Amino acid sequence: MVVEVTVTDTTRTRAIELDARDPLARFRERFVIDDAENIYLDGNSLGRLPKATRAQLRQAIDAWGRDLVQGWERWIDLPNQAGDVIAGLVGAAPGEVVVSDSTSVNLFKLASAALDARPGRRTIVLDANDFPTDRYILDGLAASRGLRVLGLETSLDDGVDLEHVRTALDEDVALVCLSHVAYRSGAVADLPGITAAAHSVGALTLWDLCHSAGAVPVGLGDARADLAVGCTYKHLNAGPGAPAYLYVRRDLQPLLRQPIQGWFGQREQFAMGPGYQPYDDINRFLVGTPPVLAAYAVLEGARLVSEAGIAAISEKSRALTTFGVDLVDRWLAPHGFRLASPRDPTRRGAHLTLHHPQAWQFCQAMRKAGVIADYRTPERIRLGMPSLYTRFVDVLDALGRLRRIAEQGDHLQHSTASARIT
Ligand SMILES: *Cc1c(COP(=O)(O)O)cnc(C)c1O
Repeated sequence: MVVEVTVTDTTRTRAIELDARDPLARFRERFVIDDAENIYLDGNSLGRLPKATRAQLRQAIDAWGRDLVQGWERWIDLPNQAGDVIAGLVGAAPGEVVVSDSTSVNLFKLASAALDARPGRRTIVLDANDFPTDRYILDGLAASRGLRVLGLETSLDDGVDLEHVRTALDEDVALVCLSHVAYRSGAVADLPGITAAAHSVGALTLWDLCHSAGAVPVGLGDARADLAVGCTYKHLNAGPGAPAYLYVRRDLQPLLRQPIQGWFGQREQFAMGPGYQPYDDINRFLVGTPPVLAAYAVLEGARLVSEAGIAAISEKSRALTTFGVDLVDRWLAPHGFRLASPRDPTRRGAHLTLHHPQAWQFCQAMRKAGVIADYRTPERIRLGMPSLYTRFVDVLDALGRLRRIAEQGDHLQHSTASARIT
């Protein structure tokens, strides 16, 4: 049992009032919550399990046992069905998104396709502080093709800046690949502005939406974004290892070729013909047999987010993070914590990041005190606040426990040596 810190009554009253007025409060009971002793602020790493998904997966497993190979009549279209629901969450049209593979693999497929579509151009622009898999994959592609990677030295806390991107753009740039919401700080990049700037020099854009889909409006269609990828196990709550999705703007679909010529991209797949003749639509970006059980989880997770609506979700996450920033300023700044996310709520995704030189020790002490957050190098704690199941009192209690740890020096009992998974 964890004893709550006594916070000023007005602050607790305010959190309770905000929860009482929250139009999304009713969504919390749509999730399995078996860990009530803990405050879960890590839904930006692995979202909670929706009850509808548990039921759907049980049915899908029964169908497997009963229908066996005949189940494919229904299963074959799941990646498109789930993709269409996700399309609605990221401002794309039906037929522009499909569920497949992992984010890493989709990034490779779409980046390769984009580079092939810009022959003669020799530069890939990326964020030197982006998530590692994105950088590694683009570095690998560049090395195998003799291209140059221009890694922008962006601010760890404020993310990518449009003017900074402009300085890197010229007619040699084939591809600009960036995260929409930065994994470390939650900073939101100017997706329409950067897309337009890239287009003005004839480059293509590839957006990583891992921390944005299901958390903030993305507006791919309005921005005429070219390509995007993202995972489903964070804000779409599809579960560990659930497949990712990819987006290709409709008019580009027949023009791009992806490098993995698998049979699921092939027209008349079961004709088993001699040569590869891919579909003209989004299906040409598929590779092989989809993971059906996990695809059901993607469908249900995306449906739940769609039911709540991105506008309401984003409005609440701004309110949650703003409430959190106020507590950080009052309670934690005196203990050496610094906000490592943008102060402007319109530039924040659904997590708040705190810098402290002993962040890793604090993170371990928080887990012991029942607050699940994650550590990100260098010296940062990420506090995820997904709107569908995070309450204002959760933010209050989590930051209250962190303050108590700092006051008592509890974190000093924890090792400074790092762990395999943080
Ligand atoms: C979580 C995340 C990934 C994950 O990629 P996987 O292929 O699913 O392991 C990729 N990029 C970003 C920005 C992420 O936040």
